[in-house]
Formats: sequence, C-alpha cells, structure tokens
Amino acid sequence: MPRRSPRPANDRVVPLALRSLGSGSSGNSFVATNGDQAIVVDAGFSKRRMVAELRHLQDSGLSLAAIVLTHEHFDHSRGAIELARVSGAPIVATRGTLNALAEGLSDPTIARIAVGSTESFDIASFSIGFRPVRHDAQEPVGLSIAADDSVAVIAIDLGTASKADADWMSNCDLLVIESNHDSTRLMNGPYPGHLKRRIAGRLGHLSNDQAAACIAQAVGVGRARVIWLAHLSEVNNTRTEALHRARREVADTEIAVAVCARDRPSLTWSSGRQFRQATLW
Ligand SMILES: [Zn+2]
Ligand SMILES: [Zn+2]
Repeated sequence: MPRRSPRPANDRVVPLALRSLGSGSSGNSFVATNGDQAIVVDAGFSKRRMVAELRHLQDSGLSLAAIVLTHEHFDHSRGAIELARVSGAPIVATRGTLNALAEGLSDPTIARIAVGSTESFDIASFSIGFRPVRHDAQEPVGLSIAADDSVAVIAIDLGTASKADADWMSNCDLLVIESNHDSTRLMNGPYPGHLKRRIAGRLGHLSNDQAAACIAQAVGVGRARVIWLAHLSEVNNTRTEALHRARREVADTEIAVAVCARDRPSLTWSSGRQFRQATLW
C-alpha cells in the first residue's frame, strides 16, 4: 500500500483544506488539498464538469493523487471514470463500490485501488480512514481525511447514525454531514410512498433531526469547530430549515455551521485559516 510522503525537510505544517464543489442528489464532489497535492472525494458531476475541475486544480499548481469514492450511486460516481482516465489518478474505493462500477471500469488502463471498509489508506500526504455507513449501496463508507494534525470527516448518504458513528464524526476539525430532509416536509411532500420510505428508512438519508443529534454529540464531546451541512434535498428541505435546526445544537458555542450549495462550488475550509466562504482557491 502506498505510504505517505515524508514531511518536507523544513517540517513546515502545511494546512489541510477542503472545498465543496457541490452536494445534492444531482451531484456530489469535494476536493481536499495539502500543499501541492489534492484528492477528489466523490466525482458525481458530469464528465465535462469533473475534467474542468481537474484543469482548474492543475492550473493552480495542484497534482491529483486519488479519486476517492464513498459509494457507487450516480450522484457520487458519474464523472469518476473520465476523471481517472484524464488525470491518471487511481479510483480508491471499497471492493463493493468497485464491483458495482465494474462495467464502467472495464478499461484496464484505469487505475483502481480496493480498500476495506474499515481500513485506512495513505496516499501522498493524506491519510484516509474508511468507516462503513448504512445506505442502500454495495459497500458505502464515510471518510476521514487527515493531513498533519488536522482531520476532516465526510459523512454523506447514510440512513442512520449510531452513537459510535456520531463519536467518530466528532473527532475532527471539520465535519461534513448529510442533512437531507425535513421529515414532515418529506412525508407531506410529492414523492411516491416507496421513495418516501426509502429516504426515511435505515438505509436511506439522514434527516435534519438525525444530523442535529450527531451535531449535538460533536458539541458535547468532539473537537469539530466547523460543520457543513450537505446533500440537502431540493424538494424536501430548505437551506434555512436545515441551518436553523443544526444551529439550535451549537447555540452558545463557537462552532460555525454552513450549507454546501447543491450544484456549484461554495464553501472552502482550511485548517490554517479556519472558516471562510470562498469561491476560488
Ligand atoms: Zn447521494
Ligand atoms: Zn447514495
């Protein structure tokens, strides 16, 4: 398994940064950077869009080390194979996720690395921890991304979160957590019954209340100082409702909560600069 690159000779701490390229049912993608290295987490936008994001990274002097997928659903993997083909970076995912993408991965020139759903994987200067989540995919995972002394956790597309899951989510500097729907809005909304049951089910998506329960735990025991709400439903949620619900849990704390825009780059976090909302690297 590849090992992390040694620290630079001057031992300077290089910030870990994360940027949301968009998060919602029509696409999800995040970019983590550390120095001149980058990894893409999920590549759920179009081939064209993902390749354009690659060019943007390269123009900024960044080298793409890996494309890490949380699971195979289209809104997380749509542009992954083309991104791997153009960049030469490997797709890193669980065996279940890679098997589910098998048809698209028939091209043997596309590098892929299978990782167990409870393993850690080091590449470039990043250490990526995998954790199984409950979702209706083959072998879905949440991720922690660590570089130097900072950690970002990405937990999107999960139907339920146990106390142990919430503990895991709490041990980070930045938490990206799904806040998919307001339960009342979902049940009273236009979706057919089977879809409502799937979304609200234990293998579906986290509601605002479920996300808030995880956030409450992070406030109580964790070290998270920035929380991003992700994968909001366009139909069954609003930015305002999700934010309002989450912020009730962080009242009287210094924890900042923000919402990832659905289909465009929005939030950028850096361990060196803490929280800011930026549109460019
Ligand atoms: Zn999704
Ligand atoms: Zn999914």
